[in-house]
Amino acid sequence: MKQIYFFAEGNRDMRALLGGKGANLAEMTGLGLPVPSGFTVTTDACHQYQTNNNNMTSQLEEELKDALQHLEEQTGKLFDNTANPLLVSVRSGAAISMPGMMDTILNLGLNDQTVLGLAKQTNNERFAWDCYRRLLQMFGNVVFGIPEKTFDNEMTKLKQAKHYQSDLELTTADLKQLAQQFKALYTATEHKAFPQNPHEQLQLAVDAVFSSWQNNRAKVYRKLHGIPETLGTAVNVQMMAFGNSGQDSGTGVAFTRNPVTGEAKLFGEFLKNAQGEDVVSGLRTPQPIHELADSDPEIYQQFVDSVQELENHYCDMQDVEFTIEHGKLYFLQTRNGKRTPKAAVQIAVDLVEEGKISEAEALMRVDPEQITQLLHPEFAVDDLKGKAELAKGLPASPGAASGQIYFTAASAKAAHEAGHQVVLVRQDTSPEDIEGMVVSEAIVTSRGGMTSHAAVVARGMGKCGVVGCAAITIESDKSVKIGEQTFHEGDNLSVDGTTGKLYAGILSTTKAAQDPNLQKFLQWAQKNGNVDVFANADTPADFEQALRFGAKGIGLTRTEHMFFKSERLFQMRRLIIARTADDRIDPLNKLREMQQRDFVALYRLAEGKNVTIRLLDPPLHEFLPHDEVELKEVATAMNVSVDKLRNRVAELKEVNPMLGHRGCRLAVTYPDIYEMQVTAIANAALQVRSEGINVKPHIMIPLIGSLVEMRWVKDRLVAKLNEVFATTKQPLHYQIGTMIEMPRACLVADQIAQEADFFSFGTNDLTQLTYGFSRDDSGSFLPDYIEKGLLPADPFKSLDQEGVGALMKMAVNGGRKEKRSLPIGVCGELGGDPESIKFFDAIGIDYVSCSPYRVPVAVLASAQAAINRRHQPSFAKATPTTH
Ligand code: ADP
Ligand code: MG
Ligand code: MG
Repeated sequence: MKQIYFFAEGNRDMRALLGGKGANLAEMTGLGLPVPSGFTVTTDACHQYQTNNNNMTSQLEEELKDALQHLEEQTGKLFDNTANPLLVSVRSGAAISMPGMMDTILNLGLNDQTVLGLAKQTNNERFAWDCYRRLLQMFGNVVFGIPEKTFDNEMTKLKQAKHYQSDLELTTADLKQLAQQFKALYTATEHKAFPQNPHEQLQLAVDAVFSSWQNNRAKVYRKLHGIPETLGTAVNVQMMAFGNSGQDSGTGVAFTRNPVTGEAKLFGEFLKNAQGEDVVSGLRTPQPIHELADSDPEIYQQFVDSVQELENHYCDMQDVEFTIEHGKLYFLQTRNGKRTPKAAVQIAVDLVEEGKISEAEALMRVDPEQITQLLHPEFAVDDLKGKAELAKGLPASPGAASGQIYFTAASAKAAHEAGHQVVLVRQDTSPEDIEGMVVSEAIVTSRGGMTSHAAVVARGMGKCGVVGCAAITIESDKSVKIGEQTFHEGDNLSVDGTTGKLYAGILSTTKAAQDPNLQKFLQWAQKNGNVDVFANADTPADFEQALRFGAKGIGLTRTEHMFFKSERLFQMRRLIIARTADDRIDPLNKLREMQQRDFVALYRLAEGKNVTIRLLDPPLHEFLPHDEVELKEVATAMNVSVDKLRNRVAELKEVNPMLGHRGCRLAVTYPDIYEMQVTAIANAALQVRSEGINVKPHIMIPLIGSLVEMRWVKDRLVAKLNEVFATTKQPLHYQIGTMIEMPRACLVADQIAQEADFFSFGTNDLTQLTYGFSRDDSGSFLPDYIEKGLLPADPFKSLDQEGVGALMKMAVNGGRKEKRSLPIGVCGELGGDPESIKFFDAIGIDYVSCSPYRVPVAVLASAQAAINRRHQPSFAKATPTTH
């Protein structure tokens, strides 16, 4: 298999082999756009390199030689030639874009001789030496691992000595001097000389890119985003286009639509007389792209037409890199642009309305997890009143957050680990800061534009971010001046990424209003999904929120949560302390009235939608006082002796409450508790029906493990319900179902289905009991299991499909064998997890139930699961939003 492809030989479908960058360079070349000539060394060559003990194979060496020769013919320039030197960039690119993680070398091919040739040929000595010093910096960093800072410090020193403000003031003599200093750094720090032979440079550069796949930053990034280690990276070798060759040259980045708001308008920045990452490094503040129209209208028009063509071709918003060399435009990269969740939804909806993609395609374009970020917090209006704005920067990533100021990734990480909310404040950020950025609530920089590293990464992570805030002066690693005020490490700062404003101190936040585009988008999702989405809601407020987010009803009301309010807790305690059925009558009556009111409120809101109420689940001792002080208070309030109360608490104590006296087992011991609850349900239903509202009580029994148990509990509930309904002429339909959360219940699901009107998997208990991991204790060892690769993920957060999933399948099959159309749902945390939902969709689960804020996520995940199943091979996935 050949290991090198010229751009003209590839296309965008060859991502796996050519990497994303290479495949898109090939695609652009095929479209006839101006792309500097070049070739791609494949990811396959990267594998070969790794299996060959991190050495280039002789095949690759041969192919590389031939390819260079071919490139010389294509470009009419010669590698390692003084008269007409060919310079190239060496750029890594994996199949999944990992921007900033791997490293690029520009101007490769320069040495002490060719630099003189380039100067002569271009009649621009300063330019030639600027290229050379850049090569020395990048090569030193990428190939020999000399920290970027080492070079930057030399440059800063020189600039300070000469009182320069900008790099542009460096003279030819300065640049020559820098080149000498940089070469000296190689020998001083690495005891290696800069390789003068361009062929050796190229070989070492390819080596370095291949091994950079293993560097720490790249590993952290892959781990963070679940990118397989085995993917490997490709290497692109490409003729240089020189944006730093004068005022008629420049370099920039642009998005075909606004990546923050999604607005359908070209958005970008460029810098004159600049190369490579100057535009995103924050060293100089770039100009907005539309200013190019004034200085160079023809190029601007060509640019606008070309990027529109690219967007139409890819049917998605593009993020392009370009360079202008002496008035000639070159494209250096295109990819589907990263975007905020808000922009993701806006663009998906717009593309459908522009007739460019289908609704189903649009639904695949947004990552379900992003949806929650659309419910971005904002600072509470009341808190903002009269609060002076400290400073204003560019609103790089929406949202609002407060925290303590830290200035380095390391200190941010340490503070986060110590339990603090962190705001990372820096001059600018680089990929080395990634771990500090991950743990921060907000990111603030004093320099850089909307496409700076900090801005792009913050948006990708959905963190609020303000960049290019000129009023900020970082004084040291411990203090910063914002406007007139000095802040120290640990001081509180509030950051509004939507407006770009900074405030001193902590401000409280509220949820933002809902986006009409999101509503439309979620309606499409509702139409496409097979797994319905219900909400876990215990209060009318929760339920209202869930309904606004599109929940079809309530899949789980945990009645015990209703007992924790003080007045109810008091009655609950009376109930538990009581030793005889007689003593329980009064507290039960009181509780019944209160529960009835709760259920009435829920049924009214439901307006005929399903409301599934689970009967009491937790062990009784959870309701009892825990310490002496509380014990005394409660004893006094209840008018019993402290001793009596203490004894009762002791009696109820269990060694292993999770496996103890809870769920339907309580009903076996104290049938009157469940009887009270169903009476409340029945009364509430009748009351609401009398108001003209349709009601469908769904009563759910927790922790059932066998048919006899189910039958015993259910018979009592039915008897009670019949008693209540005897008073009404029109019978009221209800259903009694069970949680499926014991492994045994899965094994005998066919039997249990005889008595159950529906099943609802309790995945928390089922996981706990299947693995034998106590959920409350697993925190001490699960992280080690994940860290050491013994578990792919926390099984309480994402379903263990192989184990717990097998039991679920068994239960679904068993249940449906007995009752063909038995409704089956899932409630609990996993009901809102997109990966798990995919599995639930595949095994024929009818619905999931999750917390209100997860409802939109689950709705989209359900749609995507169904669309994926319908359209094999699947659509392109959502563009990951992180850098
Ligand atoms: P990244 O993945 O970090 O964006 P790139 O390989 O795209 O790295 O390159 C870094 C910078 O160098 C970008 O600004 C890119 O446009 C620029 N660049 C890469 N190759 C060339 C080239 N052949 N000519 C001019 N600029 C280039
Ligand atoms: Mg980079
Ligand atoms: Mg790039």
